[in-house]
Amino acid sequence: MPRVDRVIAHPSLEEARKRLGPGAVTALARSVLEGLRDGVRGGGAVPDVDEVASEVARRAELRLAMRARRVINGTGVLLHTNLGRAPLGERAARAVAESASGYTSIELDLRTGKRGRRGAFAETALAELAGAEAALVVNNNAAAVLLLLGCLAAGREVIVSRGELVEIGGGFRVPDVMARSGARLVEVGTTNKTRTADYARALDGAPGAAAILRVHQGNFRQIGFVERPDHHELAALARARGVLLLEDLGSGALLDLSPQGLGGEPVVRASVAAGSDVVCFSTDKVLGGPQGGALVGRAALIDKARTDPLTRALRLGRLPLVALEATLASYLEGEPDAVPVLAAVRRPLAEVMARAAAWQSALERRAVPAVALPLVAFVGGGSLPEETLASGGIALSPADAEGFSARLRGGPSPVLARIHEGRVLVDARSVLPGEDGALVDALVLAWNGLV
Ligand SMILES: *Cc1c(COP(=O)(O)O)cnc(C)c1O
Repeated sequence: MPRVDRVIAHPSLEEARKRLGPGAVTALARSVLEGLRDGVRGGGAVPDVDEVASEVARRAELRLAMRARRVINGTGVLLHTNLGRAPLGERAARAVAESASGYTSIELDLRTGKRGRRGAFAETALAELAGAEAALVVNNNAAAVLLLLGCLAAGREVIVSRGELVEIGGGFRVPDVMARSGARLVEVGTTNKTRTADYARALDGAPGAAAILRVHQGNFRQIGFVERPDHHELAALARARGVLLLEDLGSGALLDLSPQGLGGEPVVRASVAAGSDVVCFSTDKVLGGPQGGALVGRAALIDKARTDPLTRALRLGRLPLVALEATLASYLEGEPDAVPVLAAVRRPLAEVMARAAAWQSALERRAVPAVALPLVAFVGGGSLPEETLASGGIALSPADAEGFSARLRGGPSPVLARIHEGRVLVDARSVLPGEDGALVDALVLAWNGLV
């Protein structure tokens, strides 16, 4: 068998040595040789050093491909869970870059020089934008729900409609989170219909109950013979019975997006106004910020959550926190278009179509046949399942759509496209401003088989 040091010194592994480090390449070489030795013992041919090195190079490439990379999102899904959900706006990105490479007064009041409250600006802004008494930010909305139930309802019953015992994806299932929090789930109603009277009956049978939990049916829709109690009516019941009304909104819209045809996404402010005591939501769904979870609501309850020991374990990191502050500042200043997701949702169709036409001409000049056409974009991110946005983009018709898409993903600027009926579609609503040149270059490279 070739010796390990000869394998790792092989010229074909120069790139791997540089990018993964000699230690990782040595470990890969050992593991490859180990496997080959078994093969030889079983009567296989003894491989030469070139063969071993080429297998090590292949595994090194797989390892490098695990690294997250910046990509161009041509899928038409604005909040793509596999692509990191909301891209940050310029201001938020700048705030992250500034904080990342230096020290930040994250828990220090610069006026007094004394310790300050972490997240104070973001929380004050969220409370104001939600019309709530107070707010708390944590690592994500899953953490917010866990914290909410754990600190306000552990050991007690929480009433949930059978139509709202949802799975969000990524292992987040309401009954499981509830069990982990220590709260006891009491299911009411049926899959399709739950009335206020169902909650009332459940409360009769559970005198020690802590809360009613409402969960937004974000990633699916029930149509036909369905009923869900009026929010105000449920709040009145909770108040009359002395229990809390808690709400997991999933994707929390701070602005009403119904003018853009996205009226199905509940607005946080409306939920607070309807009487929910605490509402939690993600900051990287339609809000358009970094990963995070927000709890907004009554001050006494938010304070209770703030001082819970779990909160320290679920706290938001410094970089997302400064990104969230900058994102919320754009809301406060009345500049929603500084938030890329909102800008993409609000962009007039004519502008989107003009961009697709510009891509088509740029490609035509470089001998790549494409057609501009109307498309349908999605908000995504587990939110707004049926609510679509009129969009536009280009279609290419390579002989092998799957192979072409793989080449698009494999280039220096990876592009994610959508395949529909054998054509490869790139949606102009989800490609970010400023990415046009890189997109066209990537399409030309992939079309000509140069990647
Ligand atoms: C997305 C979602 C969550 C989880 O939020 P993360 O920020 O991804 O942790 C929880 N509940 C609902 C209803 C959701 O839609």
